[in-house]
Amino acid sequence: MRTAWRVARVFGIDIRVDSSWIVIFILFTWVLAGSYFPGGHPDWPVTLYWALGLLTSLLVFVSVLVHELAHSLVAKRQGEEVHSITLFILGGVAQISQEPEEPLKEFSMAVVGPLASFVLAGVFFLLSLLLYPASEPLSASAGYLAIINVALGIFNLLPGFPMDGGRVLRSIIWKLTGDLKKATRIASLTGQGFAFLLIFFGVLRILRGDFGGLWLLLIGWFLHNAASRGYQQVVIQSALEGLKARDLMNRDFETVPAGLPVQNLVDDYILKRKERVFLVTEGDGLEGIVCLEDVKRMPREKWAGAAVADIMTPKADLRSVGPEADGKDILASLTATDVHQVPVMEGGRVAGIICRSDVLKVLQLRSELGM
Ligand SMILES: [Zn+2]
Repeated sequence: MRTAWRVARVFGIDIRVDSSWIVIFILFTWVLAGSYFPGGHPDWPVTLYWALGLLTSLLVFVSVLVHELAHSLVAKRQGEEVHSITLFILGGVAQISQEPEEPLKEFSMAVVGPLASFVLAGVFFLLSLLLYPASEPLSASAGYLAIINVALGIFNLLPGFPMDGGRVLRSIIWKLTGDLKKATRIASLTGQGFAFLLIFFGVLRILRGDFGGLWLLLIGWFLHNAASRGYQQVVIQSALEGLKARDLMNRDFETVPAGLPVQNLVDDYILKRKERVFLVTEGDGLEGIVCLEDVKRMPREKWAGAAVADIMTPKADLRSVGPEADGKDILASLTATDVHQVPVMEGGRVAGIICRSDVLKVLQLRSELGM
């Protein structure tokens, strides 16, 4: 898992900054203070370049945040749950728990982000005009932010899923054909097409000795991954249609006591019974769930000295579901959180466990059988 720090909470949404954003922040400040501002205004003091570089980078961060907040607020108004917004190396990602159910909802949710960027660009442009007589440095900073926001808006409008423009395209095809899967396939193919174009031009520029091409390469690669992943997600969701928790859960699970040393869990349970997941109990009560991944996270030499209770996912962090819960919702919540398993409760007792790998196994079986 990557590290992300929570820096604020706005409208009930956690704002988080991924560690990769620090790299971008330093890079922006460095380029602004080291070449952009000195290039246009060679007579300013060095400290001013750096102060202005820092301020402008911070406002780039705010601009990306405003773009993502626009998406999130519209999503919230449509009744979606928005958990958090994470800013990372190439922009922001709003974690919205569900895919929208209607083309129109998706359209408005997608289009509002670039719209917010264009509005911000207009505001910064006006500011740069108004500030010019009072403070030339601040005016230069606002001018730069106007350009960045226009670029942000245009880049996000590229019609490839899962970019905003791709979502707009998908919602239009969806509206016209009534087929979400088909619409997603077309939009993500366009996304991959754009990705290859970006990669192509990136390589071309690098071959000509212009290392700005690295950026295109990086963005193209990112877009390509996102486009194919977005499509897979929709395919998986439509394959899960109609499946309930009771169809996905594993009933043959064993229980282990919370005080069991991790070494014994490995020797006597995981290796002997060839199971990956165990229910952790204390007396009659459920304490949590422990799985192979939890064990792997702990260095081997500590296995003898630690108990299952130290590495398990405790009951409080588990989100249990009933046997009739919808398979799509379960996969969505498994994807949205770091917890990899869900206990299925029936009449106050654990009837089964669903792991992410179980869901994928069921999907694979169904696809092999042509279902
Ligand atoms: Zn966006």
